[in-house]
Amino acid sequence: MSVPAPETRRQRRRMVASQLAARGIADRRLLAALARVPREWFLPPHLAEDAYDDAPLPIGSGQTISQPYIVALMTQCLAVRRGDLVLEIGTGSGYQTAILAHLGARVCTIERLPDLLVEAEERFRRLRLMNIETRLGDGARGWPERAPFEGILVTAAAPGVPPPLVAQLALGGRLVIPIGDLSAQELVIFTRTPAGLDERRAGGVRFVPLISRLAFTEGEQN
Ligand code: SAH
Repeated sequence: MSVPAPETRRQRRRMVASQLAARGIADRRLLAALARVPREWFLPPHLAEDAYDDAPLPIGSGQTISQPYIVALMTQCLAVRRGDLVLEIGTGSGYQTAILAHLGARVCTIERLPDLLVEAEERFRRLRLMNIETRLGDGARGWPERAPFEGILVTAAAPGVPPPLVAQLALGGRLVIPIGDLSAQELVIFTRTPAGLDERRAGGVRFVPLISRLAFTEGEQN
């Protein structure tokens, strides 16, 4: 990865301290990854100066890049270890993907909107992130040819867990997904154990919808 400018490095350090560590994100490897990946590269140029705001931001096509704290929280819930095979659904800007790759995960990421995927792929090339495989399509169906996954991260809201994702989760694997209606969701973490699925909740969130026959239909979007 190329060396980012000192000014944005300072902004990132401030973001890590005030938005993440101060709110209880404690994983040092994760904080280091967030201090390293230039968020401004994942935004439309006219929003680059807002890159370290404590907020989600528009990335075009009606979609958003998540607030840094939410990226950190979801990644922490996923408990990624180096070498893990991780499926991400909703590539969007590619920022979350880059954080996962930076933690040493092998990432398979699926996006349904071609324009966003093309831009994200360009960013991965520019950052020389090698351990990312991309796919255009409906992520609610997962990526059966690559399964099972040690981690599955859904970065769009769903009314429930799409069954193919449960089927593609490895034993001991974690599935992190915002579940709820279009206006509000709760972050749910499922862990596959020999006895079945373990379920834990990590608080309220608000995501754009997962558009799929297995989730929300396009017309439901506001
Ligand atoms: N992880 C992203 C967040 C993107 S917002 C980031 O860090 O920028 C959610 C994304 O999910 C949007 O880009 C949207 O187009 C995509 N999406 C919605 N439904 C999808 C589906 N069924 N399959 C794949 N991607 C989907």
